[in-house]
Amino acid sequence: MSRPVRARIHLDAVRDNFRQAKRLAPGSRALAVIKANGYGHGAIAIARALADEADGFAVACVEEAMELRDSGIRGPILLLDGLFTPDEMTLVEQVDLTPVVHSHLQLDWLLAARPMRLLDCWLKIDTGMHRMGLAPDDFADAYADLAGCPHVRDVVLMSHFARADELTHPFTAEQIQVFERATMSIQAPRSLANSAAILAWPRSHGDWTRPGIMLYGATPLDAEHPSAARLRPAMTLESALVSVRDLPTGAPVGYGGRFVCERPTRVGVAAIGYADGYPRHAPDGTAVAVNGRMTRIIGRVSMDLVTLDLTGIEDAAIGDPVELWGSQVPVNAVAKASGTIAYQLFTNVSRRVPLIYQGT
Ligand SMILES: *Cc1c(COP(=O)(O)O)cnc(C)c1O
Repeated sequence: MSRPVRARIHLDAVRDNFRQAKRLAPGSRALAVIKANGYGHGAIAIARALADEADGFAVACVEEAMELRDSGIRGPILLLDGLFTPDEMTLVEQVDLTPVVHSHLQLDWLLAARPMRLLDCWLKIDTGMHRMGLAPDDFADAYADLAGCPHVRDVVLMSHFARADELTHPFTAEQIQVFERATMSIQAPRSLANSAAILAWPRSHGDWTRPGIMLYGATPLDAEHPSAARLRPAMTLESALVSVRDLPTGAPVGYGGRFVCERPTRVGVAAIGYADGYPRHAPDGTAVAVNGRMTRIIGRVSMDLVTLDLTGIEDAAIGDPVELWGSQVPVNAVAKASGTIAYQLFTNVSRRVPLIYQGT
């Protein structure tokens, strides 16, 4: 017997979700975003599962890109944060990576390079997020520098949305307008859409989309939306009961006695805790499933264990399966209860949790 915690990764669900992204933006090519180890799902396995369908991949940095190249992943790999130091240009050239250029400094590094072959890049414009990207007023000059540079081949114009998850907020439409105005005179492919924009902002789809979180089956949107309803959860985080006990009314449960039994209560303990990536801030009442039946977390989450209410699941026994999130427990429900987002829950799943791949 070994510790029962694991994350099942459903590769067929990832593929379905990718196809959904393509169907929603049929005129666009799509880069599958697999930064941060494929949002915790395993970048190499996700890349292999999508190798025949994705038009390329996007990661944060050259280290993440090298991991993919070293395991035989071909095709375009976009570096979403571009270069951190000019010497990274050597790897860009050697293994054929596509850097984002989001600053004048990065632009200078690219222009000053003397590569043995032509390079592609994506030029990023800041349309209102105010985090990365060139100012709209500087954009045309920067593009002209790249277009006139003998070792630069293709340039894609890109930007990123700050609030595309907010279905009724006008900011996304404003960002699209800023982008359209700043790039009006330029003939080049365009890329704006993250998952939220693929799902909800068709005007942003452009030539290349960049689906991330939707590939993993979680909607980024702040309200129900028909195009998000068909996403399939790609990760099932699960463990098993390792203890069951009956406690009387008034008995405190776990550290700090945060939960006190309101009535005689059967309490289960599952082998998973915050050191596995389950959020320590999950409050009493956070959804969890035991034996396929919905129940709730009671008491503080500890490092390796969590306590559950087994009221109404009286036949639950040691060894029974516990789902922390997946197809029974929406990851967004756990995220919301814990004051975070699915992105953070996925990327926090720790090294101690084996990833078990299903579907091919
Ligand atoms: C992470 C990232 C994406 C993907 O965002 P999702 O919300 O996960 O779809 C797209 N574009 C850029 C620039 C990113 O950094």
